[in-house]
Amino acid sequence: MIDTHVHLYDQAFDPDRDLVVARAKQAGVSHCILPAIDKSTFRAQAVCLELYPGFCHKASGLHPTSIGRDYRQELDFAYSTLQGAVAIGEVGLDAYWSREYMSEQILALEEQVQWARELDLPLIIHSRSSFPELLATLKKCSYPGMRGILHAWSGSAEIFREANRYGHFLMGIGGVITYRNARLAGVVKEIDLTEIVLETDAPWLSPVPFRGQRNESAYLENIARELARVRDVNPETVIEHTTQNALSLFFLEKHE
Ligand SMILES: [Zn+2]
Repeated sequence: MIDTHVHLYDQAFDPDRDLVVARAKQAGVSHCILPAIDKSTFRAQAVCLELYPGFCHKASGLHPTSIGRDYRQELDFAYSTLQGAVAIGEVGLDAYWSREYMSEQILALEEQVQWARELDLPLIIHSRSSFPELLATLKKCSYPGMRGILHAWSGSAEIFREANRYGHFLMGIGGVITYRNARLAGVVKEIDLTEIVLETDAPWLSPVPFRGQRNESAYLENIARELARVRDVNPETVIEHTTQNALSLFFLEKHE
């Protein structure tokens, strides 16, 4: 399995990071993608990447909730960290907490989509309470070879399909799928397994039965099992497809 979204560098893992990595490997996780947030998390991310080479892989970008008045400086900093990144992320739009900097968020997303285009890298996109703006931005910035993950997907299957008119986007599915009455279960039934990747977003969004506790990559197993149950297939089938999808996106596919 590949955890396509984990903040393993978060201080929540400081007491026992080696054990967390060992448990992930034991559970069958072979690769993790570590998305960036902003300047303040860069050093911890770099240390983590150095500690687990070949297991942890770097994504670089500026997270939408870190966009404020100083976003220009933050963007320049993020741009300086692109070397060795396998993706641009996490980037996107978030109007859940505030719409104060929405126009800056859109400008930052547009610019980071250009980085993905220049470097031919996938995007890891966060979108919360901002689907109309996201679709408009993807439409405006669309280019051949545009691709990535719509991480922690919370929209409908229709909005997901619309995003896929502008690029090739996979749906990132995590612990939320295990929550009771999750609307997400209905959504993933409509999406082909070739369009889904697994993610934990650890240390946040733990799957049941760990909900409310610290999340970790080993719990990818629980997410795969629930996805299999919802779709009425074997967990092995889910793991095979989602692993292949993530491998193609981050490590194999090259659009020269
Ligand atoms: Zn994240």
